[in-house]
This record gives sequence, C-alpha cells and structure tokens, in this order.
Amino acid sequence: MNRVAFVAVASILTQRKVQLQSAGDSKHIHYQLKSREQHLADALSNEYDVIIVGGGATGAGVSLACANRGLKSIVLESQDYASGASSKSTKLVHGGVRYMQQVFQLSEKNRMEKWQLVAEALKERSNFLSMCSYLTQDFPTLIPCTNLFDLGYYYFGSLIYHCVYLYYQTGGHTFKPPRIVGKDEIQQHFKFAKCNYGVIYYDGQFNDARMVQELLVTSSLKGQNMANYVEVKSLLKNQENKIVGVQAYDKIGQKQFQIKGKCVVNATGGWADNLRLMDDPNVSKRIVSVAGSHLTMPQKYGSNYWGYLIPKTNDGRVLYMVPWLGNMIMGTTERKLDNTINDPTVSDEEYMWLLKSFCDEFAIDANEVAKDVKSKWCGVRPLVYQNNALSTKEVSRTHEIEVSKSGLISVMGGKWTIFRLMGEQTVDKVQELIGNNYKRIENLPKLVGDWTQFDNKKEIQVMMNKFDLPQSYATYFLTTYGDRAYDVLKLVHEKPENKECLHPQFPHTVGEILYQIRYEQARKPEDILFRRTRLGFLDQNAIFNVYEKVFQIMAKELKWPEKFQKEFLKENFEYIRKLEF
Ligand SMILES: Cc1cc2nc3c(=O)[nH]c(=O)nc-3n(C[C@H](O)[C@H](O)[C@H](O)COP(=O)(O)OP(=O)(O)OC[C@H]3O[C@@H](n4cnc5c(N)ncnc54)[C@H](O)[C@@H]3O)c2cc1C
Repeated sequence: MNRVAFVAVASILTQRKVQLQSAGDSKHIHYQLKSREQHLADALSNEYDVIIVGGGATGAGVSLACANRGLKSIVLESQDYASGASSKSTKLVHGGVRYMQQVFQLSEKNRMEKWQLVAEALKERSNFLSMCSYLTQDFPTLIPCTNLFDLGYYYFGSLIYHCVYLYYQTGGHTFKPPRIVGKDEIQQHFKFAKCNYGVIYYDGQFNDARMVQELLVTSSLKGQNMANYVEVKSLLKNQENKIVGVQAYDKIGQKQFQIKGKCVVNATGGWADNLRLMDDPNVSKRIVSVAGSHLTMPQKYGSNYWGYLIPKTNDGRVLYMVPWLGNMIMGTTERKLDNTINDPTVSDEEYMWLLKSFCDEFAIDANEVAKDVKSKWCGVRPLVYQNNALSTKEVSRTHEIEVSKSGLISVMGGKWTIFRLMGEQTVDKVQELIGNNYKRIENLPKLVGDWTQFDNKKEIQVMMNKFDLPQSYATYFLTTYGDRAYDVLKLVHEKPENKECLHPQFPHTVGEILYQIRYEQARKPEDILFRRTRLGFLDQNAIFNVYEKVFQIMAKELKWPEKFQKEFLKENFEYIRKLEF
C-alpha cells in the first residue's frame, strides 16, 4: 500500500473510532484533538518532510496541502496563529473587482498579470466557499451610481467579472449574476444612502482568524503537527549547505530545541525577508509592507446582508463597507511601512480619512459617527517587490514561490482568497525538492466542521432543543465551529460553572474558552479576545469588561504560578490598553 493510501485509510479508521466513541449521539463525530504540549512532544521525536514557518493563511494552506498528499509537516508560529495579516483582512473572498477595472484602463502596463490575478482568484473563490460552508457566505455588494454612464460602466464591468467566473468555474460554490437596483431597494438596506441607483454584484465573505483555526484543526486530524509561540531562530544546514532543520524557541515553555526536516517553507508573510536573510545574508529584500486599516461600526449604518463599495472616494481610493458578525466594517487604506512591525496601529490620518470618506458618501453627521466607532485595527499586507515598481499601487499583487540554493522555499505575497492554490503550488515545489511523487488530490478537501455535511437550518433547531439555546447562540456555534459545535457545547454543559456567560451581548461562555485553551492552543488572553473569539475586532470596550475573567480562566486551566500571573497580567493589559480610543 503506498503512503497516500495508507494515510487515507488511517484517517478513515481514526474517524470511525471517534464516531463510535460518541455513543448515543450517532450522527455527530467527536473530534479527538491534541493539545499544544502533545504537538510539541511529537516535534521532538519526529523528522518531518516539511517544516512550515508561519501560522497565518499561507502556512495553514501549506499544512493542509501536505496533509492531503501524505507528507508529514509541522507549522511553527512565533506569536499566535493568524496574529499577522491573516486576522486583519477585509474578510472578502473575492476576485478583486478593482483589478478587473484596471485590466481595461488604457494606462495599465500589466494587463495580462491583472487578468490572471482575477481569473485565478475567481476560481479559488468558489473552492474557498465550498471547502468551508459554515464559516463563509456569499454576499451582494452594492456599487452606488450617480449617473447613467456610471451605471452602465459598473454593470458591464460586473458582468464581465461574472463571465470570467463562469468561464473558469470548475465546480464548487455558485454565485449569482450582477443586477441593477433602484433607490427603494437601496434604501431598505442603506437608509442613509444618497444614490438613486446602483449595481449589485456577488462575492464571498468569511471569518479570517477562525478559518486559520479550522485549517489547522483539519490538518491536525490528518496527522500534521503545529505549535504557536514557537519562533524559528535559525536554519540548520548540513556540510553541503542544504537545510536539514531549524533551531526554534518555545516562548511559553522558554526552551530552545531543534526540529529536523527535509525542507523548510518560509510562510512568514511580511517577515519573509528575515528568514531569507537567515538563509543567505546576501539576498536582496523582496517584501514591501503595506499597512491597511479598518473601523468597526454598528450595523445601523449599513445593511446586515449587503456590502457597499465606493469605487472612487474623493481622493481616488477604493473603500469597502462589509457586514460582518452583526456589525459593519469599513476599510481599507494603504500606507507603506518602512519596517514590518508586529502590531501596527491605525494612524490618526487614516482614522480621519475613513470617517470622512464614510460621511461624504452618506447623509450622516460626522460627530455622531465618530462616537459610534466600536473598534479599529491595522494589518500588514506583504507584497512582492519587482524592481520596476515605482509606487505600492504598482507592486504586483501576485504571489511568488522562490527556492533558494540551500532549499528554503519562500512563498510570498498573494491574498487570503487563494491560500489553497498557494499551498498546493508550494507543496509542488517541496516535492520537486525532496523528490517524492505524491500527487495532488483532485477532489476539493472539506474542512473539519463540514465533514458531516449537515443541513444548517435543521441543525440549528436540533442544537437549540438539545442544549436549550436561543437561536442566535445556536447559529453562532454552528457558523463558527461547524459540526465541532457539538464538542464545544458538550464542554459548556459539562459543569454548571462552564455555562457562565462572559458578556451579556455575546454568546461566549467559560466552557467555550476552556475548549479554545485545550484544543485550539489559546495561550494568552489576547488569543481568546482577538482570534478565537473576535471580540476585540467587534467591540473594544467589551474586552475591558471580560479581560479579567478570561485571564482567571486561563490561569486556572494552565496552572500559571502566582509570580508569573502578576507579570503576565501587567504585560498583557498594557497590550490591550494600547487599543483604547
Ligand atoms: C488590511 C488588509 C486587508 C486584506 N483584505 C483581504 C481580503 O479581503 N481578502 C483577501 O483575500 N485578502 C486580503 N488581504 C490579504 C491577506 O490578508 C494576506 O495576503 C494573508 O493574510 C497573508 O497571510 P500570510 O500567512 O502570508 O501572512 P501572516 O498572516 O502575516 O502570517 C505570517 C506569520 O508568520 C509568523 N512569523 C514571522 N516570523 C516567524 C518566525 N521566525 N518563526 C515563526 N513564525 C514567524 C508571524 O508571526 C505571522 O503570524 C488583506 C490584507 C490586509 C493587510
């Protein structure tokens, strides 16, 4: 039996085993997940085919591609999973209408590149939504128009966007064609809108940091390892100067150790040049870091279903407003950074620009809007630099995979929407390098929460009855964890104290936080507040109310010594204070 077949059979047997273990609950699988410590113990005894540095969208995508081809990999993340750009995106699964627009601009120099970028992303958009239906949805986006010329222009542009999708579609999720809408329909969604008509086109939307978690949990169930708060400090090389592993530092256990591997994938996003320079101090830098900022507003300013795209703000930029988890997020800006910084903040200038652009578009009082901002955040987009680019607008948005002489595979650039493709292409390079012949899996892999293929509406009702939940809570658990929701809710119902709610406006309970610590490697309060739950992105005031409770749950569960608790509380609270308006 070859190795791929072996891994597939082993994976089916493991699933059967866990299914039988959930006696009395025949339909729902109980997923046996490893703790962070078990993953680290594996790391010390294994030799890997691939060591993946970076636990964002790209690293998680590479891990999944390794799992599906029967390669053995480990993801090492120096902070928390998705703590880089991958939790700070606009949450769009999209082909990029603005690149489509650029294809037809007379001044455009890289027409073919832009075309390929859109075609590739539109293909991946369908794959993305069908891999993980519970965490994603398609949503209509309105392009407001003030005159008939614009209406025609944006309608035909959106139609071409749709036709490109239809042409390249190979199955997966289907999207509706664009349509023209009038003032009445617009007003039902955006009561402050000034425009008389507009064009609706369709794209996808998702929960970015949770998606990284679902990818990693899926890989883990297929035999892969992963550990957060483990920083790669240097590359280990043999006498022929070929990479044979990494020197890593566990920031939680405060230990240095070596991990052996046949090759190393550099999936460190905005930090990619650091690893490239570790490998060869003479290489030229390739990453241009561009910061992008968003604000979170109450839903009353927008729609709970439609997005809104301003294709040209007063100063010629693009601005998205997207409904997300019961709120509306608006962004993004573009600001070139000289250094990649871990937690870039929203500059005053960007904050004011976002507010002004919003108020220019809608009939709203700027002072009122400013009082209602609930959260703000900034992420770093890693673009790959070509010598001829003069401005960040001209730096390519495509991804690039570079293989160094010593075998470091750096996957750079790209976007969230195409993480699967980037993962597959990177693993093609891995196979060329380490010389095995495992083939790509043709069927699209489903993510763990999608394995039982439930019917959402029925399942919400079952969950409401079984766990005595209001509809909104059942919906939250199902659209966050898919069929893993049953494992989470079992823990919530295991003891009365686990049912305690953290905040009256959010569905998070003590039991859910325990699940995230035990099975999703949450190790600091910020991991829970920003990425396992999305509280920090939705309502920064709410996290001041729940911070101490989360800290206490973690201190008890992880048995933090008292001295450590004091230092840690101070360090972490300062991190969160930085967010205050
Ligand atoms: C503002 C903004 C909006 C965006 N909106 C969208 C969108 O709507 N749709 C879309 O498709 N794309 C979007 N993108 C792009 C998308 O978010 C990024 O392309 C993607 O998240 C990059 O993922 P990554 O894994 O390469 O990088 P990151 O998520 O930054 O991950 C890199 C990781 O490497 C880790 N690391 C670094 N050095 C080391 C080391 N030595 N050892 C171990 N770990 C290390 C870091 O801690 C980090 O977590 C947006 C980006 C930004 C900034």
